[in-house]
Amino acid sequence: MEDRVLIIKYGETAIRGNNRKFLEDKIIRSVRKNVDPFGEFYVKREQGRFILERLDGEMDFDLIIPKVTCVFGILGVSPAIRFDDQSIENVKEIALRHMKELYSGKNLSFKVDTRRADKRYPIQSNEVSAIVGEYILDNMPELRVDVHNPEIVLRVELRTMAYICSEDYPAWGGLPPASSGTAVSLLSGGIDSPVATWMMAKRGVRVYGVYFHSPPYTSEWAKEKVIDLSKKISSYTGEFTLYSVPFTEVQLYLLENVPHDKLTIFLKRAMVHGAEIIADKLKAQGLVTGDSVGQVASQTMKAIECINAAAHHPVYRPLAGMDKQEIVDLAVKIGTFDISSRPYEDCCTIFVAKHPELSPKLSVIERIEKNGLPELMGLIEKAIDEAEKTDF
Ligand code: ATP
Ligand code: MG
Repeated sequence: MEDRVLIIKYGETAIRGNNRKFLEDKIIRSVRKNVDPFGEFYVKREQGRFILERLDGEMDFDLIIPKVTCVFGILGVSPAIRFDDQSIENVKEIALRHMKELYSGKNLSFKVDTRRADKRYPIQSNEVSAIVGEYILDNMPELRVDVHNPEIVLRVELRTMAYICSEDYPAWGGLPPASSGTAVSLLSGGIDSPVATWMMAKRGVRVYGVYFHSPPYTSEWAKEKVIDLSKKISSYTGEFTLYSVPFTEVQLYLLENVPHDKLTIFLKRAMVHGAEIIADKLKAQGLVTGDSVGQVASQTMKAIECINAAAHHPVYRPLAGMDKQEIVDLAVKIGTFDISSRPYEDCCTIFVAKHPELSPKLSVIERIEKNGLPELMGLIEKAIDEAEKTDF
């Protein structure tokens, strides 16, 4: 019996203690969800790692590896040949076949590293390495051995089954999905907030997205973007939920009732109020935004102070200290940039102040909100009641 499997390594330190099985399950479920469309797969637990096998055919590693390395909590993966005949003759043959498949004709240095789980195996690990190494050298004269600094480490593992592999693909690390508590992320179709959402999810936070839209001032395309961004984020976390909140009435109410240069501050505070209602319902421990200090008028320290005061949970701003280019680079790497950059037509310029106030005063903002906007909270509550919930 011989087949191709993927060895999945996960962060041991993240998965300690009594809820080990629970956390392992979170990773396994996310992996399954990502590979499910491509065949019938099985994930097996095996002493501090998982083995992914395909039950209905040969595994296409090029296709499957990116579906697995994106799951948070995974450190890396190695494609391997797994087999049951552990006689030294068979080990030699399979090792040679593996090396020929990957490195034929290349001038590379290598070493063989053997591990025996069962010490009853008749040949010692070092000796297995020597025998296999020599056999490969005899048959692939283009290679050379370097035990100190080899370009290739051929790993031979002799366990209940034997494994041979030589490639490592790094993953994102982080903590297993939904292992660190819950947060509500204010998710727009922009570049920043999907990155912020991703960063918090990477730390094991179960993130719920909330998107405020104002049809017909914002288009279906804009909503489509947020849905596609949510899908992308769910490939890292297994599950993701988006609340799309119809905010037109709130926005029009603010447009009519607050000084135009402070409109953005009030609008952002209204979004925070709305996100807090959802956070309370979910018993979440925090909010997340994509603010980066100084990026735009609504993200000066003073403006952030005014917006932040509308929250009663901690507000996480993982991008606060990042430059735009750094955020863009990360957005490209995680695959959200292309979605965020899709052009779409919004006609919401009436809501954008030409000269937004850069140094708003919290006491002034709070006084207006308390005394001059009697219908605001009711309208926000109504909008949240009407939110559309989508699970990914
Ligand atoms: P982004 O690229 O995330 O849209 P931005 O640079 O456009 O951010 P702002 O428009 O000032 O910045 O928004 C700051 C933060 O407020 C966003 O990162 C996001 O967390 C939140 N936010 C803004 N607009 C919305 C919206 N329509 N729905 C939900 N959250 C929003
Ligand atoms: Mg934006």
